[in-house]
Amino acid sequence: MDRVGASLLPARASPASRYDVVIVGAGAAGLMCAIEAGKRGRRVMVLDHADKAGKKILISGGGRCNFTNLGAEPDCYQSQNKAFCYSALSRYTPSDFVALVENHHIAYHEKKLGQLFCDGASSQIVAMLLREVTAAKTVVRLQCTVATIRRSDGFLLETTLGDVAADSLVMATGGLSIPKMGATGLAHAVARQFGLKVTATRPALVPFTFQGKTLELCQRLAGVSIPCTASCNGAGFTENLLLTHRGVSGPAMLQCSSYWRERQHVQVDLLPGLDLLAHLKKEQAARPKANLSSVLSALLPRRFVEVMCETSLPNKPMAQLSLAELCAVTKAIKEWTLLPAGTEGYRTAEVTLGGVDTTGLSSKTMEALHVPGLFFIGEAVDVTGPLGGYNFQWAWASGYCAGQYV
Ligand SMILES: Cc1cc2nc3c(=O)[nH]c(=O)nc-3n(C[C@H](O)[C@H](O)[C@H](O)COP(=O)(O)OP(=O)(O)OC[C@H]3O[C@@H](n4cnc5c(N)ncnc54)[C@H](O)[C@@H]3O)c2cc1C
Repeated sequence: MDRVGASLLPARASPASRYDVVIVGAGAAGLMCAIEAGKRGRRVMVLDHADKAGKKILISGGGRCNFTNLGAEPDCYQSQNKAFCYSALSRYTPSDFVALVENHHIAYHEKKLGQLFCDGASSQIVAMLLREVTAAKTVVRLQCTVATIRRSDGFLLETTLGDVAADSLVMATGGLSIPKMGATGLAHAVARQFGLKVTATRPALVPFTFQGKTLELCQRLAGVSIPCTASCNGAGFTENLLLTHRGVSGPAMLQCSSYWRERQHVQVDLLPGLDLLAHLKKEQAARPKANLSSVLSALLPRRFVEVMCETSLPNKPMAQLSLAELCAVTKAIKEWTLLPAGTEGYRTAEVTLGGVDTTGLSSKTMEALHVPGLFFIGEAVDVTGPLGGYNFQWAWASGYCAGQYV
């Protein structure tokens, strides 16, 4: 008999186990909520269908978990109801999480732009949360699938570990990104079941894909990374872009993907802060015999310049370039316009944009306004941060707040 099978109870063979609080989802938000509720003396059970708690924490930040961002202000987040996240983010701040990390003697550093990473492995953050969960005397049950949830003197969950009853039910099952890792739309389905709305969802912080000539270019340049300013739909990001076999990725592009919509362009300045036309004119006067490619190779990766010169730029000695050609080169590099065919979708997206509509939730407690005892936290909710530790901060903050009221 396998591990799940060994724990299977015949449906309703025994009375439901009763808890004050059942949290579905042992990820960042669910574990934080469990810790806080447990500290208040609530009897808490956390259920998860995965074989490990905090799987996304383990793979986050390239294995070092970018656990928060020092600049995680409410204005940084996307939501149909921008004011919703203010309360939680101001009551549980990046410094609060940093204090927890320091209490557990986990070494960390700021990589850039306020992004805090573990010096060691992401598993330190999961281990820290599980130590806190144990100290708060809460129970975590893994490999447990929820079949049905209904109202019955609180909530009754039919699960593969038997029936479980609770006064408060917290949905912390995250978003739809990376189904292979166990992401499901359970929180959204439960929201709809209880009459809450769910805003339109889409993959975000996700690489762009291309077709035709741009795809060929990306494939030829796979592995090349270039600092740039990329903008889309009014949002701009100065970070690196990375060409890949499928299209473009890297922080600048991942950030843009959260704002991009089908058939829109992404505009890329490959030399932000440089007046390229003035620079080219100066080089023309100083090095008339130098080819355009050698002038540009001093500013951009050589492989990128070679391919661009071969496919679209006039690679002649500088003296032979007309003003119109210099302007065209400047435009090609400072206003490189990309038309993505799409994105890699939930298969690789770091987050889900949209989720449980916040107009149906209390911003103070995360409780459904018209369903007492039902709470939604973390990525399942329509609050999405940019790349750089913001999404974990929302998970910690929303989990912390719900934990005070469940
Ligand atoms: C590759 C990658 C890297 C990332 N890196 C970072 C980073 O460095 N910094 C950052 O801030 N954010 C990062 N993120 C985003 C971050 O991981 C999420 O925003 C965050 O984990 C959301 O927390 P959550 O608790 O709401 O959901 P999750 O962490 O996704 O937890 C949800 C839990 O619910 C469980 N679950 C789902 N469906 C069911 C079901 N039907 N029944 C039972 N259990 C279920 C899952 O197994 C999971 O354990 C990254 C995401 C990815 C995919």
